[in-house]
Parts: sequence; C-alpha cells; structure tokens
Amino acid sequence: MSDRLTVDQTKAALVAAADAIIASTERLTKADQAIGDGDHGLGMARGMKAAKEALDKKPAATVGDLFKTVGMAIVSTSGGASGAVFGTLFTGAGKVLAADTLDAEGFATALAEGQKAVQARGKAEPGHKTMLDALAPAADAARAHAGAGLPVAARAAAKAAEEGAERTKDMVAQFGRARTLGDRALGHPDPGAISVTIILDAFASTIEG
Ligand code: ADP
Ligand code: MG
Repeated sequence: MSDRLTVDQTKAALVAAADAIIASTERLTKADQAIGDGDHGLGMARGMKAAKEALDKKPAATVGDLFKTVGMAIVSTSGGASGAVFGTLFTGAGKVLAADTLDAEGFATALAEGQKAVQARGKAEPGHKTMLDALAPAADAARAHAGAGLPVAARAAAKAAEEGAERTKDMVAQFGRARTLGDRALGHPDPGAISVTIILDAFASTIEG
C-alpha cells in the first residue's frame, strides 16, 4: 500500500484492528482473568463490534472522523475501565487527524495525542502496568520512524508495543483492578497492553498490504 492512506484505506485498517480484537477475545479474557476480573476480552470485542457498525453507517470526511467514530462507539458500549481508556485513545487520536489522508507524520502525532488524552483522563503513567506501557513506546517508535514512511512507522510502533506489553510482566500494577494484587500480578502481562499490541499489529499489517 502507499505511504498515504485514503479515508477508505484508513477505514479498512481500523476494521482490521477491530476484527483482530474480536478474534482475540479468548486470549484477552484469559489475560484479564489472571490479574483482573476477566471482562476485558468481551468488553473490547463488544466495543469493536459497535465500532465496525458505526464505521459502516457514518460517513467520514477526514481520517480523524473515522477514529472519533471508533472512540465514541467504544465509550458507549465497552464498559469497564477499558471503555473509557480505549475510547479516549481513539477519540484523542482522531482530534489531530483533520486531513483526508493518513501519513506517517499524522500516525505518529495521533498516537502521541492519544497517549496524552489517556494519561489526562486516567492519571496513570508509563510504568504503572497499564495499556500505556505498550502505547507510550509505540508512540515514541512511530515518531522516531516517521521519516521512513507509514508502513515502516506503523510496523515499528507495533513492534515497540509488543515489547512494551512483554515488559508489563515485570511490573506491579498501580492502576486498575490489578493494583489490589500487588506482587501477585508479577509474571502476567497487562491485558490492555496486549490489546494495544493487537490493534497496532493489525493496523500495520493492513498498511503493509
Ligand atoms: P476493568 O478494569 O474495569 O475490568 P477492563 O478489564 O476492560 O476494565 O480493562 C482493564 C485494562 O484497562 C487494564 O489492563 C489497563 O491496561 C487499562 N487501564 C485501567 N485503568 C487505567 C488507567 N487509569 N489508565 C490507563 N489504562 C488503564
Ligand atoms: Mg477487567
């Protein structure tokens, strides 16, 4: 695919991310059963199904409109912490994408703005064993590789997210339900960080064509 996605191509990448989450429901359920209450997989899948329906129905003039549509669908259907957190991520990312194409620069800026919005809303920071531990390194990697074009930047972000999610195994949670577990959450990755990895991997794969 090209270095610059049209609105339709961006929509296809978002649908692929939604499908990847829906296909990973069981994996996410198991991850949340280990250190939370087990609802993360169903909540994310519910949000992403609603997001796909909304993307189908709602016309989009800019790529940002698509991200906002996904964010609003997640907020109103996912529930739990992740409804607010992932809804805020997509809505925040959408706010800075005012063009009718998506390039590496826009992708990097959107991830950074999404991260900022999540931190402002949930008050967690990288290192607290949340989805931010995948999102923050992904945003940094996208920025660092923006000059190499969208496919490279998107793949670098996905890889950084995966490594970040892996590192959450060694973290003690300070936000969300897992914080009550203390050291017992050690050895288990954060479910939300896995979701970020799945979303970015599917997004990158679609862009790579
Ligand atoms: P709940 O915790 O309400 O059961 P989910 O299980 O759907 O919600 O989502 C849990 C995930 O939400 C965690 O794995 C973590 O990544 C993310 N999360 C929770 N609180 C925060 C926060 N304050 N900031 C960022 N992410 C958070
Ligand atoms: Mg949960």
